[in-house]
Amino acid sequence: MGLFKDFFIALSNNAFLNESAKKIGPSLGANKVVAGNTIEDVVKTIRRLNDKNIAATVDNLGEFVNAKQEAIAAKDDILKIMSAIHSNGLDAHVSIKLSQLGAEFDQQLAYDNAYEIVKQAAEYDQMHINFDTEKYDSLSDITHTLDQLKSEFSNVGTVIQAYLFKADELIDKYPDLRLRLVKGAYKESSHIAYQTREEIDDNYIRLIEKRLLNAKNFTSIATHDHNVINHVKAFVEANQIDKSKFEFQMLYGFRSELAESIAKEGYNFTIYVPYGDDWFGYFMRRLAERPQNLALAFKEFVKPKPLFIVGTLGLSALLLGRCNKKK
Ligand SMILES: Cc1cc2nc3c(=O)[nH]c(=O)nc-3n(C[C@H](O)[C@H](O)[C@H](O)COP(=O)(O)OP(=O)(O)OC[C@H]3O[C@@H](n4cnc5c(N)ncnc54)[C@H](O)[C@@H]3O)c2cc1C
Repeated sequence: MGLFKDFFIALSNNAFLNESAKKIGPSLGANKVVAGNTIEDVVKTIRRLNDKNIAATVDNLGEFVNAKQEAIAAKDDILKIMSAIHSNGLDAHVSIKLSQLGAEFDQQLAYDNAYEIVKQAAEYDQMHINFDTEKYDSLSDITHTLDQLKSEFSNVGTVIQAYLFKADELIDKYPDLRLRLVKGAYKESSHIAYQTREEIDDNYIRLIEKRLLNAKNFTSIATHDHNVINHVKAFVEANQIDKSKFEFQMLYGFRSELAESIAKEGYNFTIYVPYGDDWFGYFMRRLAERPQNLALAFKEFVKPKPLFIVGTLGLSALLLGRCNKKK
């Protein structure tokens, strides 16, 4: 599992492959887990979810932003999707990544972009803006940004990655913020993060319980793990925690039947809906999480473009050794 995960995380970190993939559009099965390329595609997807009593958090996909114009273009795209959500009266909010707004090369630019987004969202009936967490290196930028924004706005929150030793401290720091709790999607060193599935799962459950008992704001439990979901259902019942205090979240395209059945039981549910042409890194992280997700890609192999797809994967493997200098 370690090597498997390392391989796909390394692919997700490869700038050349990410750039090349943009040109061919969602492929290798990614079209099953990315809601399309345009705002119209996303609006249709959110409507379908809302009809099933499921909300959405929308992610305008984008990796390796390293120029001012790209960061500003990403911010403008996010403002457009927010406007579409608001004008169509959709039950949805937005998830953003500071790196996409320029944080990897200009922190002030990223902050200014984030500020504009959060301010506009506040004017759209306090639409929530979630700051997704990325690699550990960027965590202090996120918390710093959040600390500044939360003194002026109440529509901001972030994600706690349970694999981090620091997760406990962050849960304690932000009882008043809306938080999403996840296991964690990146590869982190053993100095800062739990490494085994058992350790991560145990810490995840412990943090969820602690948060649900102490939170002063809404909590999103984002997982496809039915054991965790069942545990949470039993825990909230035993501790008389009202369903209005929390929700479950899953990623678009994964375990949709389970998501719908949980929503039908009366739990709040939100689906994370990624869209846009920068699908490769996101999709590779999903493959890294679970070997079975490769089934998404294998289903595409039997379609009429097998040579192209085998070629793409083969080329990926080959180029990985040569071009992957980014962590
Ligand atoms: C809405 C959402 C937002 C996220 N945001 C972030 C973020 O900001 N930062 C970040 O680092 N990570 C984020 N993640 C990713 C997260 O950290 C995990 O990497 C990812 O969710 C995989 O862990 P898991 O809890 O879903 O279950 P896993 O540990 O992958 O799976 C546990 C078990 O659940 C079952 N299972 C899982 N998936 C399936 C499936 N598709 N079909 C059938 N059974 C399945 C299997 O039995 C599996 O063994 C997010 C995840 C979600 C759902």
